[in-house]
Amino acid sequence: MFANLVVVVALVCFFCAVNAGFLGDKKFATRVVHAGCEAEHNANSVVPQISLSTTFVQSYPGKKPGLDDPNSHGGGYFYSRQANPTRGALERALASVEEAQYSSVFASGLAATQAVLQILNSGDHVIALDDLYGGTSGMFRNIITPGNGISFSFVNMDKIETVEAAITPKTKMIWLESPTNPLLKTTDIRAIAALAKKKGLLLVVDGTFLSPYLQKPLALGADIVVHSLTKYIAGHSDVLMGAVVTNNEDVIKKLRNIQNFCGAVPSPFECYLTLRGLKTLHVRVDYAQKNAQQIAQFLESHPVVERVIYPGLKSYPQYELAQKQSSGPGAMITIHVKGGLKVAGRFLEELKIFALAVSLGAVESLASSPALMTHTAVPQAAREAIGLTDSLIRLSIGIEDSEDLIADLKQALDKAYQTYQQNGSK
Ligand SMILES: *Cc1c(COP(=O)(O)O)cnc(C)c1O
Repeated sequence: MFANLVVVVALVCFFCAVNAGFLGDKKFATRVVHAGCEAEHNANSVVPQISLSTTFVQSYPGKKPGLDDPNSHGGGYFYSRQANPTRGALERALASVEEAQYSSVFASGLAATQAVLQILNSGDHVIALDDLYGGTSGMFRNIITPGNGISFSFVNMDKIETVEAAITPKTKMIWLESPTNPLLKTTDIRAIAALAKKKGLLLVVDGTFLSPYLQKPLALGADIVVHSLTKYIAGHSDVLMGAVVTNNEDVIKKLRNIQNFCGAVPSPFECYLTLRGLKTLHVRVDYAQKNAQQIAQFLESHPVVERVIYPGLKSYPQYELAQKQSSGPGAMITIHVKGGLKVAGRFLEELKIFALAVSLGAVESLASSPALMTHTAVPQAAREAIGLTDSLIRLSIGIEDSEDLIADLKQALDKAYQTYQQNGSK
């Protein structure tokens, strides 16, 4: 009886700490609209203030204002690099939608990634998935290894034994994405999290592709989630930003120090834009995902398409695993076309509604060639080893009308098919 009471009290306190105010037990769609924006913390306005001031008045030397403002995370305000009211509102919102305790945001997804690596020390070792976002892989290989003396093993994580075999006495962290960019491979987050826990390693999951609406890696056992907010969360191709979300107090202390001493913080205006984007995350993702399912089925039927990779298709090799750890397949589709670069190039240049552009996760549909556009930092041999060929095309499905999108894809694929037939099957 007493033990039960302790548990209940502990849980209540936990939820109060996590979500001050009325959001404690609320569902995703409610959190996403209200988290961080509770009127009582924002001068009673429905929309949080864009707080542009870089410095804050102290009543006595060293006595910071705002110690009781949750947007200052209990540290008060001093200088905007250390804490800012608009940024704090966004950080609380992001923590809330991940059902986590803490978040800190950075000037881009890669700045967030770099901040997480700065928790480590020179000489440490990281096991990274062999199919990461090109920029992440490029940073690990070209900046962090030579500059910070941190070594990486890039491994295929299909089998837990391969990951376990890569652990050395210096290993401190495992880094993965699921689904991956651009091959959309699903990694068993629960299994890797169990291994990380057993070996005392931090598991970091880059959750950009599904967003917290469809997948919550912390609930699956990860220690740290990284997001490129630039993609689904901000959602309108007009903000560059990244976030780290965690329940680990030691990690968040270090991250807030890194924010302050390294300074890669986003501007208050961009934090406001991201908060605004966040409010419609579930609506946008639902719609884009519905489009993507129809489009993936159409693509499977076209003669110039060799293979469609989409976690919502029955043909997706890890269909069951994807179903087990996420609540939807998302809105990214990868295809292989027949006939190599010439055919892929023709398809991409003929698209009219889909913009030929990097990035993803926004309201407008985008198409890109990873080998030529986003993954150029990955050595060609490493690209080929994982099947990232010149004939691979990545589609980010937006929220336009699905019939219009399918018609656009069809006319471009038909022209690409002509190129394929003219060139034989070379
Ligand atoms: C875009 C992206 C990043 C990098 O984020 P930026 O905001 O562009 O710095 C990291 N991971 C994934 C999976 C991405 O798609």
